[in-house]
Amino acid sequence: MAKKQFKSESKRLLNLMINSIYTHKEIFLRELISNASDAIDKSYFLSLTNKDLVFNKDDFYIRITPNEEDRTLTVSDTGIGMSKEELDSNLGIIAKSGSFDFKENNELKEGVDIIGQFGVGFYSAFMVAEKVTVISRKEGSEKAYKWESSGADGYTITPCEKEKSGTDIILKIKPSTEDEDYDEFLDPYNLKSLVKTYSDFIKYPIKMMMKKRRLKEGSKNEYEEYFEDEILNSMVPIWRKNKSELKEEDYEKFYMEKHFGYEKPLKYTHISVEGLVSYNAILYIPARAPFDFYTKEYEKGLELYSNGVMIMKKCSELLPDYFGFVQGLVDSPDFSLNISREVLQHDRQLQFIAKKLNEKIKIELLSMLKDEREIYEKFYQNFGRTLKYGLYTEWGSNKETLQDLIMFYSSYEKKLVTLDEYVSRMKEDQRYIYYATGESVDKLSKLPQAELIADKGYEILYFIDEIDEFAIKVLLNYKEKEFKNISSSDIDINAEEDNAVFNEGNKELFAFMKESLGDKVKEVRASKRLKTHPVCLATEGEVSIEMEKVLNAMPDNPSDIHAEKILEINTNHQIYEKLKNAYVNDKEKLKKFSNVLFNQALLIEGLTIEDPVQYANDVYELI
Ligand code: ADP
Repeated sequence: MAKKQFKSESKRLLNLMINSIYTHKEIFLRELISNASDAIDKSYFLSLTNKDLVFNKDDFYIRITPNEEDRTLTVSDTGIGMSKEELDSNLGIIAKSGSFDFKENNELKEGVDIIGQFGVGFYSAFMVAEKVTVISRKEGSEKAYKWESSGADGYTITPCEKEKSGTDIILKIKPSTEDEDYDEFLDPYNLKSLVKTYSDFIKYPIKMMMKKRRLKEGSKNEYEEYFEDEILNSMVPIWRKNKSELKEEDYEKFYMEKHFGYEKPLKYTHISVEGLVSYNAILYIPARAPFDFYTKEYEKGLELYSNGVMIMKKCSELLPDYFGFVQGLVDSPDFSLNISREVLQHDRQLQFIAKKLNEKIKIELLSMLKDEREIYEKFYQNFGRTLKYGLYTEWGSNKETLQDLIMFYSSYEKKLVTLDEYVSRMKEDQRYIYYATGESVDKLSKLPQAELIADKGYEILYFIDEIDEFAIKVLLNYKEKEFKNISSSDIDINAEEDNAVFNEGNKELFAFMKESLGDKVKEVRASKRLKTHPVCLATEGEVSIEMEKVLNAMPDNPSDIHAEKILEINTNHQIYEKLKNAYVNDKEKLKKFSNVLFNQALLIEGLTIEDPVQYANDVYELI
């Protein structure tokens, strides 16, 4: 029998498993049981939805059989089984292939994280077994097949016999060494405790023959050994248990078992509602964004159950995009088992539950923000951007839900603050919520435009994410306070001084400068916001400089979108005197000055200069 080769990614994963230094090797059992439970789910679902099938609930179970003599441990299920092709495709390559892309060798050394991150499932068997045999018969088929592998050098698939449909996974347990004890995976009592620890909430019975002792019949002191089938798990799904019976640990274990995330969740909540629509739900906020979270590949959604039977693994209709990071499940007796994706979208019960969950998630996040600030900040680092996108994409219709959850870095607090916090400490004479846009906090804190505003004691929010300003534009205002970009033309920071007066006496000079700069600027004028810097750019209208950058970087940018730029000159700066001088004595020089100052203002904003050589030449000449 020719050996088939594993796909390369799987081979590396296998090697990782075989040579694993992972300390929790016992999780392999959880993984196999969880696969078995999924397989039974599929079969159970078929029986329930196919009226022609007669079935007995007792036919659905998982069995664990240790055999110390052969050093084998078998995990059997009465689930859907696998065909020959499925054995090949499901066990020959890892399920989430493509995502498992080892780029550098050092990632391999951090095996533990990889194991956790990708939920390795079936392959974890190789942490404890030197050989794995899978005997499976697909439901509805007469034929059974045996898949066998001793590790990375490949696997074989051969026909075999199996009485009923389902799957047996037979592990040949590794011999124990001085450092590693594998015998524990053959010990019924230890196995029982592993099931209790990791798989207690599996809803199908997990059975094992246990050796027991009893008094011999008729005897008062003679004992005999006998075997009895025992169900090892409690079988009540965790979400149907009473909250008071459950500990934080239980929720965390369940989270791991489901592979909702690979680190303890930041927060969980358990909801039980009896009413017009009844449902149970457990929701989790992961501690970290999954590796594909900000890509198109990411699939949001909650598991959907009807009375304990899984209908769907990712029901996206239950979560809005902006809460797409939430993991968990919903179970309601009001869902029909035969519900299809198309029907789901219009299902009133589902919409009702989705709305309630949405409200609940918001409440949870707000309470986290209020009572567990540090945790919230951690959450926000990971998922804040999704919230801001949520504001932007639906044109403000999510405003009520999201405006109190977003945060920005504050010039004043030097950390993330909410809009509410900003508004509550606004100065009496302050009209606007000021913000600045740019690449980094560091760069923004040096923006010339910020100086006078900061001097007035006004706080400035730093917008560093591309989405920030777009989100705010949709919001328009917060608690009736308008947002104002500190670079916008109508900032009016010194409102008492009239515009006309400001430009008195330099009208002609500025008109000349504008003339020499041409279309690059809309106007040149005296600045009301500069303190120590000689120049800065301001913008007029809807498009700010940061927005210009973002929009022009988009691949399908419809046309050149430009911010209307205004070159502002600090009339208290000594440079201003030079400009006046040049206007009277040397107009050619003034042209060069104008060009240099404009380009410098561009550089400060992080924009590129159109003609750097000309700029450099002008600078040399002036020096
Ligand atoms: P995952 O469970 O994350 O998909 P696994 O590597 O654990 O990844 O399993 C790969 C696939 O093999 C499963 O998706 C399932 O289709 C199939 N499989 C594994 N175990 C069983 C089983 N006991 N019965 C039926 N199919 C199974």
